[in-house]
Amino acid sequence: MHSNLEVIIGLEIHAQMSTKTKMFCGCDNDAWNKAPNTTVCPVCMGHPGTLPVPNAKAVAKAVRMSLALGCTVAPDCHFDRKHYFYPDLPSGFQISQYDFPLAKAGSVSYELRDNSGGVTGQRVCRITRLHMENDAGKLTHRGTKTLCDYNRAGTPLMEIVTEPDLRSAEEAVAFTQELRRILVAVDASEADMFKGMMRFDASISLREKGTEKLNARSEIKNLNSFKSLEKAIQYEEKRLRALWEKDGGPMKGAITVGWMDDEEKTRMLRDKETADDYRYFPEPDIPPLHFDAKEVDLIKKSLPQLPKELRDHYLSLGLDSKQAMQVIDDAALRSVFDAVYTKTKDGKRAVSLVLTQLLGFLNAANKTAGQGPSASAMVELADAIATGAISGNAGKDVMEKMVATGKSANDIIAAEGMQQISDDSAIEELVKRAIVTNPQAIESWKAGKEAALGTIVGWVMKESKGQANPGKVNAILRKTLQS
Ligand code: ZN
Ligand code: MN
Repeated sequence: MHSNLEVIIGLEIHAQMSTKTKMFCGCDNDAWNKAPNTTVCPVCMGHPGTLPVPNAKAVAKAVRMSLALGCTVAPDCHFDRKHYFYPDLPSGFQISQYDFPLAKAGSVSYELRDNSGGVTGQRVCRITRLHMENDAGKLTHRGTKTLCDYNRAGTPLMEIVTEPDLRSAEEAVAFTQELRRILVAVDASEADMFKGMMRFDASISLREKGTEKLNARSEIKNLNSFKSLEKAIQYEEKRLRALWEKDGGPMKGAITVGWMDDEEKTRMLRDKETADDYRYFPEPDIPPLHFDAKEVDLIKKSLPQLPKELRDHYLSLGLDSKQAMQVIDDAALRSVFDAVYTKTKDGKRAVSLVLTQLLGFLNAANKTAGQGPSASAMVELADAIATGAISGNAGKDVMEKMVATGKSANDIIAAEGMQQISDDSAIEELVKRAIVTNPQAIESWKAGKEAALGTIVGWVMKESKGQANPGKVNAILRKTLQS
């Protein structure tokens, strides 16, 4: 057994940009749930005589992402034609960028975590380049027939290529998850995995530890979930290790494989193609792009907080590492948390209300934060508790009903008569009755058992259905007993 091998992984990530229109035409860029071949035009269908026009919004998003990755945006770059035949590519070439990409040389630092969200390691993965290109259509194979849907043809993509800096499936997953957060944070992509907006190709090879040379790699194409990325890398690593054992060394040439999700194994597709095979040449129909340094600098300054900075921010408010990730990864939850924190100015309270109580009720009701109370609804509730209109305990009941019914806090409080009793005379009345009803507790208290008063307070809380203000009950009880 060759235990002295290490696995070397590099990724190419394709992310769909969240623009209204496609990369080179005015077609609707949102193909989700649209009838096949309805969001197309002569440009994205590659008809002769049509001219592509780059989408300025897409270019701007790609620049934002490049800067968020710490890449240097090239002052000058251009598009190239990458030729290959496939039925989902009606023009016979993809408009991409080859030797002059939009941006180069960045890096992403990311964290490895255990199952409970605790940080177990810090890593850095360098980014080789980021370039823009258009997506192809979609093929659906039905028995012996193949259906073509060109709605996705022309969708703007960013291709992000990493250095071979990853050393395990775990690192690949943690890195791509961080990359996804950055895409969303800078509004470059919705990065919705379910809709296939982020796809991975993973290149994997082995080498003896202590050696520097990269051996021939196996490239796993088109992985579209973190789960399949993880499983495919694990599978291919095992396969390559066995092959190394058998052949006594690395593979002779690079290969391209596909991942079979159902069978959970890779399948040989072809020998790896090289750049020569694509006959790249500069796209003659699109003028080169130029970015001046000032313009790029302004965009850099306009970037929002990146996930790493957000993480530090939330940790400083008292969230634990797992809670910070939950908030960052769920936009709806984050807006609720931020609103409640802004209102209460109390990290602990906001954590308790939103991340303990609200998440608990949402989970129990099988709802997401987006399906639960809005930020303003939760602020109304936090306010009702802060002003003493209802007790913290009653607040929990109100919140549970908000999750179940979608009604506002104040409506529920009014309809259920849950207002906290803070009125002194009402509480005095309750305290007097409690003393009469529980003589033995009073005897114990007189005998020096301070804790016996708990019985009295408990009786008042029960009698008032939890609506008496506990602070006032305590104060009034002591005053009554002293008089
Ligand atoms: Zn079009
Ligand atoms: Mn590509």
